[in-house]
Amino acid sequence: MAAYSYWQGASARRPFASGAPPSSADVVVIGGGLLGSCCAYWLARRGRSVLLLERDGVAAGATGRNAGFVVPTTARAYSEVVRQHGPAVARAVRRLAVDGTRMLTRVVVDEGVAADLRSTDLIELALDGEQVRLAKREVELSVADGFPMSWLDRDDLAHVIGTPLDDRIAGGTTVSGALANSVAVTDGIIGAAGRLGAAVHTGVTVNAVRATPSGVRVDTNHGVVHAAQAVIAVNAWSGELVPRLADVIRPVQGQVIATPAMPALFPAGMAAPISDSGVYWQQDPDGSVILGGCRTVTAPPADPTGQVPQPEVHEALLRVLPSLFPALGPVRSAHSWAGAMAFTADGLPVAERVDESVWAVGGFNGHGMPFGAIVADLVAEWVCTGVRGTRLAPFALDRATLGGSFA
Ligand SMILES: Cc1cc2nc3c(=O)[nH]c(=O)nc-3n(C[C@H](O)[C@H](O)[C@H](O)COP(=O)(O)OP(=O)(O)OC[C@H]3O[C@@H](n4cnc5c(N)ncnc54)[C@H](O)[C@@H]3O)c2cc1C
Repeated sequence: MAAYSYWQGASARRPFASGAPPSSADVVVIGGGLLGSCCAYWLARRGRSVLLLERDGVAAGATGRNAGFVVPTTARAYSEVVRQHGPAVARAVRRLAVDGTRMLTRVVVDEGVAADLRSTDLIELALDGEQVRLAKREVELSVADGFPMSWLDRDDLAHVIGTPLDDRIAGGTTVSGALANSVAVTDGIIGAAGRLGAAVHTGVTVNAVRATPSGVRVDTNHGVVHAAQAVIAVNAWSGELVPRLADVIRPVQGQVIATPAMPALFPAGMAAPISDSGVYWQQDPDGSVILGGCRTVTAPPADPTGQVPQPEVHEALLRVLPSLFPALGPVRSAHSWAGAMAFTADGLPVAERVDESVWAVGGFNGHGMPFGAIVADLVAEWVCTGVRGTRLAPFALDRATLGGSFA
């Protein structure tokens, strides 16, 4: 079991400065995941002098350890979001995911990192009568609200998937989305931010962010940086820098394996409602199947940010493909890793101005890829204009639904 992910092992990342950062900038962005990188990019595009500080390497956190799905939907089932937040908020958040997927795709094309993001169908299997009923309801609700989604029956699936299906597979839903190598995508976006003048320092841990009469003081392990404004995009670690977020954004460990190269079997991104937390997998162009989920088969680790894979989850992940596609026989893992997702009680992220000159964004509930580029753009706009765009309203810290218990 490795301390780094398949993507982190396979992708060359550009070198950045380490050690003492410059002592001042217009805006300091903290965190070099998708959100921090996109914030730096959009702020630099708006002409700000930006300094991004990352304590490890770019995409060292959830972004570099995820499964690379860019699904233009809400994190929880759409029917559940409608029930919990009402139809208007559900529609607005889903629209943001759709627009965010397009925006991420456009940025990687514009910035020449397109090879690392493939537009494709994303299929979620249904395995029994109740799952079929819920899946068809999801299609009906989505289409009624203007979000394309289709039902595929078992015969349709048999034509798409390159190995015989287990008898339990009744059908599935499909949406158009994308699959990414999130490390390469983030590295490309941060490279683009650099070309626009953003400075990036890795190996710099931020210990505190404090408002001052003239802006913000950022204390790091390599000295102090003074800035007019700061954006905190540290996701699972948000509570360390903004104590009132500790009870709002909670780390939850997710786990993934990569198989050795297999024949081409899965032309689409795949998911199935196996175990309470579900499973999802994609086949990389090199043939490896990257498969994650199953986190609820055992008790969560004492430190969910520790990034150490759990053996029980690993074993459960190895059983997924043989149980759904028996002709495959036993599956091996060539790589196994874990990462810290960040959950909120109501399934929506937080994007908030937490002090006069400080913003915080995070808590994407294991579903940040479709939202990263667009939420970062809206946060950058807020930082530059002082006005929160209406599209960020569902992610306000004072929303009523945030006080509930965690799923
Ligand atoms: C196993 C797993 C599978 C997932 N699969 C998917 C998927 O398929 N599709 C999807 O949409 N989402 C998925 N997600 C969720 C997705 O990866 C996240 O929503 C998204 O990457 C969050 O990006 P971020 O920039 O907010 O956070 P992160 O990528 O976690 O970035 C935060 C960064 O802040 C840095 N940092 C922390 N504290 C400090 C500090 N004090 N000083 C300086 N730097 C600091 C960290 O090192 C880290 O690099 C998955 C997550 C995991 C863990």
